[in-house]
Amino acid sequence: MLLSSSVVFSVNGKPTLKTFKYLVLPIWWSDEDSSDSSLTMSPTHIQDIYNQNKQYYDDMSWGKMDVTFQVLPQTVFTISSASPTFDATYDAAKAIVDSLGYVEDEDFNGINLVYFTAKTGVFSGAGGWAEVNGRFMWMSYELALDVTRHEIGHNFGHPHHCE
Ligand SMILES: [Zn+2]
Repeated sequence: MLLSSSVVFSVNGKPTLKTFKYLVLPIWWSDEDSSDSSLTMSPTHIQDIYNQNKQYYDDMSWGKMDVTFQVLPQTVFTISSASPTFDATYDAAKAIVDSLGYVEDEDFNGINLVYFTAKTGVFSGAGGWAEVNGRFMWMSYELALDVTRHEIGHNFGHPHHCE
């Protein structure tokens, strides 16, 4: 899915597509039970899907593009699953990344929030959202290669071609 323009965060020009590093932040919504094993995400699954994305960009750019993903530990979010918004989740994810000491454009270029589908609102459906030509992606768990690849494409400036 493409994020509507009202919530697209502007970046200064296109990112330089040589190296791009995502911090991947898996979360529990604040009203989810973080001790429930069915709500515990598998870091191996997440890393595996992103390794395939990394390989995809490596292959299609003849080794010139290095898109990497650092998976952070699953974290209890400050936002609940009742109609979370793009703006609130963006700010909350940024705050967590800041508090961990990661500096944008030094330690990472983009953030990928990974969540279980919310009760209501824009994150209640399986799939993902991404800013076009931006640096933030929202992905529901479990991840799929085609969906993650589609959303990363939006971050890298690709609109939908046939809609
Ligand atoms: Zn889309």
